[in-house]
Amino acid sequence: MYLCSVNTLKGKKAVYHTLGCKLNFAETSTIQKQLEAAGVETAKNGEAADICIVNTCSVTEVADSKSRQAISKLHRKHPDAVIVVTGCYRPPLTPPLGGENSLFVDAKHKGDIPKLIEETMGAQISLPLGEGRDGSFSPACARGERTRFFLKVQDGCDYFCTYCTIPFARGRSRNGSIASLVRQAEEAAQQGGKEIVLTGVNTGDFGKTTGERFIDLLQALDKVEGIKRYRISSIEPNLLTEDIIRFCAESRAFMPHFHIPLQSGSDEVLRLMRRRYDTKFFREKVEEVLRYIPDAFIGVDVIVGMRGETDALFAESLNFMQALPVSQYHVFSYSERPGTKALQIPGKVSPEQKHERSQQVLKLSDEKLHTYYNIYKGQTRPVLIEKASPKTPLRGEKSRVLHGFTDNYIRVEVSHMGGLEGSIVPIRLGEWNEARDKLTGEINCQIVK
Ligand code: SF4
Repeated sequence: MYLCSVNTLKGKKAVYHTLGCKLNFAETSTIQKQLEAAGVETAKNGEAADICIVNTCSVTEVADSKSRQAISKLHRKHPDAVIVVTGCYRPPLTPPLGGENSLFVDAKHKGDIPKLIEETMGAQISLPLGEGRDGSFSPACARGERTRFFLKVQDGCDYFCTYCTIPFARGRSRNGSIASLVRQAEEAAQQGGKEIVLTGVNTGDFGKTTGERFIDLLQALDKVEGIKRYRISSIEPNLLTEDIIRFCAESRAFMPHFHIPLQSGSDEVLRLMRRRYDTKFFREKVEEVLRYIPDAFIGVDVIVGMRGETDALFAESLNFMQALPVSQYHVFSYSERPGTKALQIPGKVSPEQKHERSQQVLKLSDEKLHTYYNIYKGQTRPVLIEKASPKTPLRGEKSRVLHGFTDNYIRVEVSHMGGLEGSIVPIRLGEWNEARDKLTGEINCQIVK
């Protein structure tokens, strides 16, 4: 058994493994910073670790299985390490998946991981579900690519859609204060961040614990010097108000880009999912966005194969999606989650039908994306150069491929000598690179740093 006393973390080595969404990545980065502050070093590749952090996902059965595999693999690789499991997946207690030295930390206690490791090393503890519902909010801001940061502004959800376990795993809606989030954005700018993606479980529900408004957060962040671009990771249609859309249209740094979950284009399926809008509302919301921001990129999440989604209801949904003037669909297959209300709905959809429906929506999504990209071919748009490949030019090579996104979220690659990472460069958009879902481009005019 591993025993520990105060300060025993100093000099220990840790490895980190994250599954799932950007929110998890932001939180793992914060856990890493906290452990580093306690003297824990990150283990190099191949080095034995004393602590393994696994930040899990439980959004589907596949995510559960990947979380289990990650825990078992780390336990096999580092048999003497303390395995700290956090995130949405709840591992079985007997036998403990990560061995005798494993520790499960729920949403409420994520911010206390260094202390919990010190206090409980060697003891399997589990904290009851729902502990995260007391308004506690663990801040997190992580660097993604070189220039992009993910800032957690909100956590938890009060919506309880029938297919979703997130409110059980992450607890009630809560948020950081505007002042603390502005401070984190300023720190990201000082570290060279150019773009910040605002993340959360139900981002638009910001303000539940501080009594502040999401639009006031956007206005405050827009004033942070050095941050050239903001994107909102995803926002429920009923929370994307006209005020927010109008502000994004007029703001200095909020990009013409929205990610809005639809989940189904059938009113009957939306009702079974217990979503808070119908298709008419959703269509009008998309039209409202395009009225204020005609060039906005609109990405839309869809779930196929929900219980109760008959062939006729799926056809109705697909028709709705075809007619919707959006830029891309992100498709997910419905997954049976223990403890959810959806399990009581009759009409299970077979895996084969789910696969077939997924393929149909993916095909539609390709058409939408191609149509959207085609509109902008020949135009010059500002591209934030995020990375170059290869990182250093190969011997004898004169140029590298630079990758980035336009303001309206078109993926672009351009050949250049390099050295432009982190710059916003006007690029004339050219041909579609089908293999990589990108437009090729050529650099135009002067460079804006
Ligand atoms: S809004 Fe619905 S789908 Fe999204 S996290 Fe909340 S309960 Fe889950």
